Amino acid sequence: MVTDLSAAGPADSSSAEAGAADSALATARTQLERAAREIDLDDDILTRLRQPGRMHEVTIPIEMDDGHVEVFSCFRVQHDNVRGPYKGGLRYSPDLTKEESVALAMTMSWKSALMDLPFGGAKGGVRVNPKELSPAERERLTRRFTHELRNVIGPMRDIPAPDMGTDPQTMAWIMDAYSMMTDESQPGVVTGKPRAIGGSPGRQAAPGRSAAVITREVLAYYDRSVEGTTVAVQGFGSVGGHAARLLNDWGATIVAVSDVHGAIYDPNGLPVADIPLHDEEPEAVKGYDDAGVTRMSNDELLTLDVDVLIPAAVGNVITEFNADDVAADLVVEGANGPTTSTADLILAERDTPVIPDILANAGGVTVSYFEWLQDINRRSWSLERVHKELETEMQAAWANVLQEYEEREVTWREAAYVVGLSRVAEAHEQRGLWP
Ligand code: NAD
Repeated sequence: MVTDLSAAGPADSSSAEAGAADSALATARTQLERAAREIDLDDDILTRLRQPGRMHEVTIPIEMDDGHVEVFSCFRVQHDNVRGPYKGGLRYSPDLTKEESVALAMTMSWKSALMDLPFGGAKGGVRVNPKELSPAERERLTRRFTHELRNVIGPMRDIPAPDMGTDPQTMAWIMDAYSMMTDESQPGVVTGKPRAIGGSPGRQAAPGRSAAVITREVLAYYDRSVEGTTVAVQGFGSVGGHAARLLNDWGATIVAVSDVHGAIYDPNGLPVADIPLHDEEPEAVKGYDDAGVTRMSNDELLTLDVDVLIPAAVGNVITEFNADDVAADLVVEGANGPTTSTADLILAERDTPVIPDILANAGGVTVSYFEWLQDINRRSWSLERVHKELETEMQAAWANVLQEYEEREVTWREAAYVVGLSRVAEAHEQRGLWP
């Protein structure tokens, strides 16, 4: 059964992970408040936007392959849908908490609005280490979770997508289960699906592509070119790997990449096109066999003296404890929430520009929107069209952010939040409060 916790007030913070999760939520709320002050947001709207609209929490019993039963905690947080259906990823992670899901759902609301997409913000998933499940167990868990969410997701309600620990196959199971339950073929209920069932070309590489496009634009703004720029990328997955490869194609030197086990570094540049991405071979960075590279920790990668640092793995990696050691000239956030709000202040004081996640990795939700359009219109786009339209959308968002940045003399993050939050606030004002 789905428990609707929307009336329960602030998210529960009594869990074991509360320390880390609270900081993600505290960061999200601080960022909201900074932007709210900047646009003089109505207090009543701010009060509403500090909380998610709805939180669904279920515990799911699953029979494991050996016959015993395990129970999993699952969440779907729906933050705001004033501009369109809720939209956001589903994570399978042992560290998943309600609090972090609230923070990430909130961020999705601003991201969708910044990109001017007709979507709101949501996030959620299952507290589980997916590596410890067999494919059959993952499938049973996913189908059962979909069953529990059947009344709260849908192509016009809430459209999940892959995130950490989930993939196109997970989306295919959700689409299939939802379609069976509604007795209709419903490809638009999820994005990030395999191509054979309505997935879009270019979806998987899209957040990395947008991070590369935005890096190129920001470098040009600071009168620098991609050619010869040195880049360190934390996380060699969908976001980091694709960003690294594209920037490398455009002439950048990728000096360091990492996975969960650590980083490899070569000041002359790594052949990133030849290193398999996380979804192709999860241990490829760890197993990279070249005596010429130096091995270092993920923490050391973050402090390398490079032109551009792209944290593209997990949240909360640049904090008050290491922000002073970040030596890059520019930080482009590939992951969601890699910089805490205190670290943000430290980097701003040091004049290190931080290009926020809601702009840099927004290619993911943008191509998800293209996928949803293709699904509900029963039309398929070419990869060339996806790339062209993504470039157009990223240029438009960049132009909007740049305008606010220059007019208001704020940080890049505040400028991006101003664009997104203003659109959400305007929609709330126009729609009003009912009853
Ligand atoms: P992924 O699973 O494809 O790759 C993640 C990479 O990070 C892997 O190389 C993994 O080994 C590494 N990693 C995992 N935990 C780590 C840790 N603690 N320290 C260092 N490295 C670690 O994931 P992804 O889809 O590229 O997502 C990465 C980030 O980008 C997440 O914050 C995600 O929410 C965000 N994001 C993803 C998308 C998308 O569509 N995939 C879109 C927008 C934002």
